This record gives sequence, structure tokens and C-alpha cells, in this order.
Amino acid sequence: MSGFDRSRNDLIRDFKENYGKGPYHAEAFFRHLYQEGNADVGGVPEFRPVPDLARRIGEDLSVEVPDIGDNIDDGGTKKFTLKLNDGALTETVLIPMAEWHTLCVSSQVGCARGCSFCETAQMGFIRNLSTAEIVSQWASVKFGLSLIPRNLVFMGMGEPFDNFTNVMRAVDIFSDPKGPGVPKRRISISTSGHVDGIRKLTELEHRYPDRAYRTLHLAVSLNAPTDRVRNRLMPINKTWPLGVLKSALLDAPQSRIKDALFVEYVLIPGVNDSQDDAEKLIQWMDGLEAKVNLIPYHPRSSSPWPAPSDDSVDRFFDIIRSSGRECRTRKSKGKGIQAACGMLGRQCRISPRTADL
Ligand code: SAH
Ligand code: SF4
Repeated sequence: MSGFDRSRNDLIRDFKENYGKGPYHAEAFFRHLYQEGNADVGGVPEFRPVPDLARRIGEDLSVEVPDIGDNIDDGGTKKFTLKLNDGALTETVLIPMAEWHTLCVSSQVGCARGCSFCETAQMGFIRNLSTAEIVSQWASVKFGLSLIPRNLVFMGMGEPFDNFTNVMRAVDIFSDPKGPGVPKRRISISTSGHVDGIRKLTELEHRYPDRAYRTLHLAVSLNAPTDRVRNRLMPINKTWPLGVLKSALLDAPQSRIKDALFVEYVLIPGVNDSQDDAEKLIQWMDGLEAKVNLIPYHPRSSSPWPAPSDDSVDRFFDIIRSSGRECRTRKSKGKGIQAACGMLGRQCRISPRTADL
């Protein structure tokens, strides 16, 4: 079993059941793992009196930090492909901001949701990533590049709420102050509108009010303000149409907290970028404390649509802003290496896929 698969609470339970030890040793192991990136605890002060335990842990828990190997760089945005044990490839993108780095992680290999504008959709669904495979995307940056990303976004390959348990365990690990220590308010989950997942997250907040799940940022990829257009772009809308999605968001604590909910809107020329679309979007968001992120469409391979012109993006932006709603246009980073939103999965010089924030 991989050490990166276990949250601190999981380890406390494992240590009790497997080794008859308490939180003292489990926590020391957890801290060591995220400081050093290995399971070799022989030299850690807490384990010196118990060398047998240190040896057993080393045998029972493997820790593999995948080698970043070749990565491709576009003006500082790095996309790297991690080779998983079964040969599957996942993609991670490291995006430099003015004073920090944002890490865009994948939650699946491929995606089952089939959005018509998305490169990843073209791969189909291959498999879920384990918690360890999600956490190792962070670990390979920390231990391979000696960089500690400030923000984490689940905007790489896959629909995170189709892999709810592994993703949420990874969130618990990422946000643990004794582990990676990325606060939940600096972690964003981007979903295509998976209502079961949004509701399960809301339940977690009710069940564990002290764990700050309410501050976990939620980005909802809306991309169309009517069921007619959204059904065409995003098949998930046939399962959870706009009205159902809106009620789930109204019940979620993120929709009542400033800066916790974002509505993502990929602007596709002639499909969802008219004045009427902008007005309907404003109307749909009524009652939600949320900001709009406009993402100019990056044409996928064999795309029937071009990228939008800067003018049309500005026009849409102005309509949203003039309604009083906060809005920003996401500056595209990493387009040259297919590392921008929706481009993960495309074969490029090395292999990979997505993000821009
Ligand atoms: N599955 C999740 C997260 C991964 S997609 C989701 O759909 O939210 C991350 C973001 O990339 C989403 O907001 C999605 O709408 C956007 N995206 C997908 N394909 C794109 C494309 N070709 N151009 C621009 N953005 C795209
Ligand atoms: Fe999957 Fe998101 Fe792409 Fe849709 S936009 S196919 S949900 S990765």
C-alpha cells in the first residue's frame, strides 16, 4: 500500500490496528512522509526506540514519488506527464503566477462525461486515479522540482466528483497542516455540474463543520445558460439540468461565502456568446454569491468551432460586469504546449493535457 493513500486519521487507525501504536507514531510518520517524501523512518527521533516498527512500516508502506522526467515548458507553464504503475499516463500542469505557483492536478485518466468542446473527452474514460496518484502529482513537484505550490486546482483530466472518495481523501491530505498544509480555501474543485458530488460535499460540511469543507472552492463549468444549448455541449446536463444544479448550489455553503464559488464559462463563437446568452447567464446566477470566470475556447482537435475573437470576449465580459456581477477573463497560459484548459490529453511532443488559471 502506498503511504500517499492514507490521510492522517487513516494512519492513526492503521497504526492502532496493525502495530498496536497510537497517534504519536502515526503523526510522526505522516510528518516525515510529507517533509521527506519517503517511508524510511529509521532515523526519525520518535522511531529510534522502536527500530522493528520502523522496519515493518518501510516494508508495509511503499512511497513512490513519480519521476517528472521530461516536461515541457511554455513561458514558465510546465506540463508534465507522470507514468503510472500500469503504464497509464496522467498529466499535471504547474502554472507560475506573480508570486506563487498554482498546480493543476488530474483526478482521472480520460473522462467519461463527453463534453463536445473538451480534448480530454476525446480519450474516453480510462480509469480513476487513486488518492496516492493524485497526491503524488503534488509530491513530484515538491520533491522533484523543490517547489511548493500555493494553490491547487482539480482542473486537469477528469471529472473529480466521478472519483469522489479518492479526490476527497486527497483534499484531506493536501489540506492537513501536518502534511502538505495547503488550506482548503486554496484548493478548488472544478466540476461539470455533478449534482450528487456537490450534495455529498455539502453533507460533509454538515457532518464535520470543524473541517472547513465550506471554504473549499467550487468551480462549476456552466458553459451555457439554457438546457437546450447545455444539453448539446455537456451530456451531464441531461442527468442534472440547470434547475437541479442551481438548487444544489443554493444549498451548498460555498454559494453563501464570498470567494468560494466560481461559475466557469467557456466562450465558443456562435454557440454561447450572444448578448442574450450573457443576460440569461446573469439571470441564472441570481441568488448565488459567485464570480464568473470567462475562458476563451481553445479549439480541440478537429474542432467545428474557432477560438473567439478578443472583441467578442470583451463584449461578453462587459455585459456581465455591467450587471454588477464580478467577472474575470482567464488569461490563457500554456496554449503552446496543449496545457491550457481542455487541452490535456492531446498528443503533443511528449504526450499530455490542461489548465490555465
Ligand atoms: N471536469 C471538470 C474539470 C476539468 S475541465 C470540469 O469540467 O469542470 C477544466 C475546465 O476546462 C472546465 O471549466 C472546462 O469547461 C474547461 N474546458 C474544457 N475544454 C475546454 C476548451 N477546449 N477550451 C477552454 N476551456 C475548456
Ligand atoms: Fe470531462 Fe470536464 Fe472535459 Fe467535460 S470538460 S469532458 S467533465 S474533463
